[in-house]
Amino acid sequence: MFDALFLEQADQMAKLVSLPDDALPAEEVTVRVHWSGLNYKDALAMTGRGPVVRSWPMVPGIDFAGVVERSASPDFSVGQEVMLNGWGVGEKHWGGFAQKACVPGAWLLPLPHGLSGQQAMALGTAGFTAMLSVQALVREGVEPAHGPVLVTGATGGVGSVAVMLLAQMGYEVVAVTGRLEEQAYLHQLGATEVLARSHFEMPSRPLEKARWAGAVDVVGGQVLASVCASMKQQGVVAACGLAGGMDFPATVAPFILRGVTLVGIDSVMCPQAVRRQAWARLAEQVNKTLLAGMTRVIPLADVPVVATELLDGKVRGRVVVEVR
Ligand code: NDP
Repeated sequence: MFDALFLEQADQMAKLVSLPDDALPAEEVTVRVHWSGLNYKDALAMTGRGPVVRSWPMVPGIDFAGVVERSASPDFSVGQEVMLNGWGVGEKHWGGFAQKACVPGAWLLPLPHGLSGQQAMALGTAGFTAMLSVQALVREGVEPAHGPVLVTGATGGVGSVAVMLLAQMGYEVVAVTGRLEEQAYLHQLGATEVLARSHFEMPSRPLEKARWAGAVDVVGGQVLASVCASMKQQGVVAACGLAGGMDFPATVAPFILRGVTLVGIDSVMCPQAVRRQAWARLAEQVNKTLLAGMTRVIPLADVPVVATELLDGKVRGRVVVEVR
């Protein structure tokens, strides 16, 4: 038997239940899950506020770290430390909010060298997405000398890690937040300036004053449109989220008059080779002290309550779920 958070379609409140091992999906590798992360998508799944779950009943949790308990995959052996993020786990396939998970070997990664399971989940899907976004800016040619880089939703999971990574890489980071009371936190992560989100929530002109060489946006909606309008010539925006909305009320002006590049970030179906490389970079680059400072650890039973807090914008940084 193992403990799991269990979601049924008829009653969208997750329940902590005890399930028999043979309830697990029949897949190649069984993992004894030790840690998971609470991500925005998990919070949507747990609360039913977004159509995340596509197969019922579901064990949510889009990422996890643990130890292989049984393996029919040549790539993983019993006792090996592993982790997983994405691939529709916690959406279409049972996920990490359970003491056991059973998944195809092709979805697993060996735990990156230099990270504990807890640290891997302190980063989790959010940290991985932040790294993919930062790598997109670098790949598209944004250098520290080109000017300031903006990060929206900066006190959240993706935003906090993006601020930290960019500052460590020598960029001047301007953080945008709806919580100006968190300025000290954002400066501690490396932001040089903190701006109120409200500046970006008003309808923007097609082109605003050119200020940013790069941007990581987790908010979408009007904020993303305003960010695009205020990019410098050849600026690059990595769009990875929709915390403020799915729409995009922009014009083509920044793209055709300033050569702005809009790069989409998808962590779920990201190819395994890119994944391994991004996780290796995270393991090397992340400041473990700052990571610990932005992380709160909760037990499995607290996930439903904290999921609601997260969607209400009351959670700062990252939440790690201790599953074992
Ligand atoms: P968090 O909830 O931790 O952070 C989101 C932040 O966005 C909040 O902390 C808040 O920051 C800001 N925010 C919240 N609500 C609103 C709102 N209504 N309007 C404007 N800003 C708001 O979530 P994550 O960091 O984990 O995820 C952020 C986004 O990125 C989500 O939309 C998520 O779905 C997406 N995502 C996408 C991935 C991908 O593969 N593309 C992978 C992972 C996440 P502040 O208070 O500082 O303004």
